[in-house]
Amino acid sequence: MTKWVYTFGDGKAEGEAGMRNLLGGKGANLAEMSNLGLPVPPGFTITTEVCTYFYDHGQSYPQDLKDQVTEALSFVGRLTGRTFGDRDNPLLVSVRSGARASMPGMMDTVLNLGLNDVTVEALARSSGDPRFAYDSYRRFITMYSNVVLGIEHHHFEQVLDEHKDRKGYSLDTDLSADDWKALIGRYKTLVEKELGKPFPQDPQEQLWGAVGAVFGSWMNNRAIKYRELHNIPASWGTAVNVQAMVFGNMGETSATGVAFTRNPSTGEKELYGEFLINAQGEDVVAGIRTPQDITEKARIASGSDKPSMEAAMPEVYAELVRIYGILEKHYRDMQDMEFTVERGKLWMLQTRNGKRTAKAALRIAVELANEGVITQEEAVNRIDPASLDQLLHPTIDPNAERRILATGLPASPGAASGEVVFSSDEAEAAKKAGRKVILVRVETSPEDIHGMHAAEGILTTRGGMTSHAAVVARGMGKPCVSGAGAIRVDYAAQTMSVGGVTLAKGETITIDGSTGQVLQGSVKMLEPELSGEFATLMGWADRVRRMKVRANAETPLDAKTARNFGAEGIGLCRTEHMFFDGDRIISVREMILADDEAGRRAALSKLLPMQRADFVELFTIMSGLPVTIRLLDPPLHEFLPHTEDEIAEVASSLNMSPDKLRRRNAELHEVNPMLGFRGVRLAIAYPEIAEMQARAIFEAAVEAGKATGQPVVPEIMIPLVMTKAEFDLVNDVIVSMAEAVAAETGVTVEYQVGTMIELPRAVLKAGEIAESAEFFSYGTNDLTQTALGISRDDAGSFLGSYTAKGILATDPFVTIDQDGVGELMRIATERGRQVRKDIKLGICGEHGGDPQSVRFCETVGLDYVSCSPYRVPIARLAAAQAALGGNVASQA
Ligand code: ADP
Ligand code: MG
Ligand code: MG
Repeated sequence: MTKWVYTFGDGKAEGEAGMRNLLGGKGANLAEMSNLGLPVPPGFTITTEVCTYFYDHGQSYPQDLKDQVTEALSFVGRLTGRTFGDRDNPLLVSVRSGARASMPGMMDTVLNLGLNDVTVEALARSSGDPRFAYDSYRRFITMYSNVVLGIEHHHFEQVLDEHKDRKGYSLDTDLSADDWKALIGRYKTLVEKELGKPFPQDPQEQLWGAVGAVFGSWMNNRAIKYRELHNIPASWGTAVNVQAMVFGNMGETSATGVAFTRNPSTGEKELYGEFLINAQGEDVVAGIRTPQDITEKARIASGSDKPSMEAAMPEVYAELVRIYGILEKHYRDMQDMEFTVERGKLWMLQTRNGKRTAKAALRIAVELANEGVITQEEAVNRIDPASLDQLLHPTIDPNAERRILATGLPASPGAASGEVVFSSDEAEAAKKAGRKVILVRVETSPEDIHGMHAAEGILTTRGGMTSHAAVVARGMGKPCVSGAGAIRVDYAAQTMSVGGVTLAKGETITIDGSTGQVLQGSVKMLEPELSGEFATLMGWADRVRRMKVRANAETPLDAKTARNFGAEGIGLCRTEHMFFDGDRIISVREMILADDEAGRRAALSKLLPMQRADFVELFTIMSGLPVTIRLLDPPLHEFLPHTEDEIAEVASSLNMSPDKLRRRNAELHEVNPMLGFRGVRLAIAYPEIAEMQARAIFEAAVEAGKATGQPVVPEIMIPLVMTKAEFDLVNDVIVSMAEAVAAETGVTVEYQVGTMIELPRAVLKAGEIAESAEFFSYGTNDLTQTALGISRDDAGSFLGSYTAKGILATDPFVTIDQDGVGELMRIATERGRQVRKDIKLGICGEHGGDPQSVRFCETVGLDYVSCSPYRVPIARLAAAQAALGGNVASQA
């Protein structure tokens, strides 16, 4: 017999944290907390296997499930001294979904299940508080009708508002027991009208309705979309948790709240969270009332006039502090806890590893390691390399003028500017059209995920630090300001207004998620500073890392940025980028348009000093670190003018007839330039180009070596080689030039000549090529294009279907296609090393900064990866994790 149901409560449980796959995250942790002896209301978990069964069997349940649930219900009844459905002493429960990874889009929790016209009276009697009983019942009807029966919330809101207006009430707390009782009647009528049948009174029917709704929600569009975005397989399924109710709405000694063991924005070690007195769970997140702070310190910082939990409920607070210590130590990570206080007694309802910003993740990992809770290697493994991107976000220049429109809560750090839009669909459309937007909403819900993804930042006018917008934005690493209550959003008019200023859709604002400020217009931003915990953790990463990390850079600014970010050299300097600058494009065009070698040499001699000066600057910045310079790679026509206006201008500046220019343009035109006259082929046809570049490199090396006192060892890289013969011809040019410069200057420069491996033929002939080449650098952009026969620039129209249909797991231009391109890399590596044992191997395609690809490079045994300067920290961390054999941390 399969066990479909696992109970927990009273200091023990049938499950444990390790059974996450079977019990879901919430269920496994409820079991674990019970095992730890923490105060958890008893309950049981229906396993994810039931969900799988449900979908494999036409949405039906295993035969023995009902009996197991009945038995579990009586177990909970025994522990609570109540009976489910009993008219005098009813057990009430919550029904909560819980997948392996926490997943917005799943069914909302239903509270107070088991209430009906009869049991509500029993609850009124046993609590001695009829108002509480009717309040709970009306919440249940609303929630159940909404979540399980699909009746929209606003119907109930409308009935409630009418009642309040009629009675002259402004707050929900103004309503008496009789008011709620009257409303319950109207709610039931509403349900019957909408549904054509009465609100279910039978607790069993209620329970199975809710269980079915949880399983049903696994396949709703929101959940499917979320799984798509986060690569969660549909086969995982969700669990259902059924748990005895505890009541946070039993008056002034009751409350509900959420807390983190460390600050999820900054990582500071402090109990951080919010709670509401006399409320039930969903009130805190729904942003209906503004919550109170947990600690006095936070209350003072926020300037709130409502007492903190520390002040209002000192004993409960002390208990929460005790439990937080136990949980953090046990899970060895920052916890995100949900709790309820019923008449002065604290109950734990959830714990999980808390979501955090990248900044907080770093601080927490470093501090946990320093506290001895985890090792430095674990700390390194806990940071998702891709998340470091968040830290590289700009912040607002403190000296910039700020036209402050409003101040909300600093919900997710970083600053962003963009055009105001008021719906997620518009945000998505604007993003597609290449515009930057700030999504402005009263509050967000799981339906807004796509808009939040598309926006640069999110602004809400309602909701706290744990509101939907805040939590999701932090997870996405997007700046967010929440609860900016002074702003009025008018969806109909598509405007937002505050303090006499009205902004229409399309006008620009800036939000500062670190201070909560909302600013008019765009504001000057500053680049991030990478010290403190960032530096510490990167230091730990560097200690365990085997592969070196270099940057793809050619401008002085990029080279400096790369060094700031810890690059250990330049893996790819694209000399053509130096050809476009200022005046030199004129000489470049002159060279291309020349009729003969003499003409080309004349033009090249004008380029030589410019190119040499660039290299001197680059070598000086890199002061002795290796620099790989690639000879001219792109097809020549890229440098020529195309429009008639440009042609006229260039022709006159070169003193040449426009017709001749047009003719040369036509000659250089190619049907397929990616496979055309480019790469080493240029140097084969026009050796004088390679000659000039080699001379510039060697002369610069001599000069920079003298100036810095650090010998420069340039690595000269020949692109797009497919045969040893090509390599040798160009290599000869380089070697003669080295000798010439040595003779002229009296300084012998040490150097290496190598090649990019970016053609399948080069892979196959890697052994031969390695007889001459001293290093290989995998040019995986072109290698992917040539191996898959897919042009990157044309892939957009069909690649999406390939990933959607699972033919390719990921975009091969983002993450290396390990099976295909990866195998080519392995072959070239093996054949190259057979001939030249110590051949230096690196990668310089975009993949060099992709964490998954970096891990693959470790398995191939490359010496270094090279990526764009901003990705250097990501690559350093990914390389360290690769060396540790660890996985990218999951913070779910
Ligand atoms: P979510 O996954 O959206 O956080 P939960 O299942 O955790 O949903 O429920 C949300 C909130 O409902 C909880 O934080 C808690 O405040 C409340 N809640 C859930 N179950 C109970 C219960 N048995 N007793 C009291 N409150 C509950
Ligand atoms: Mg929860
Ligand atoms: Mg290439």
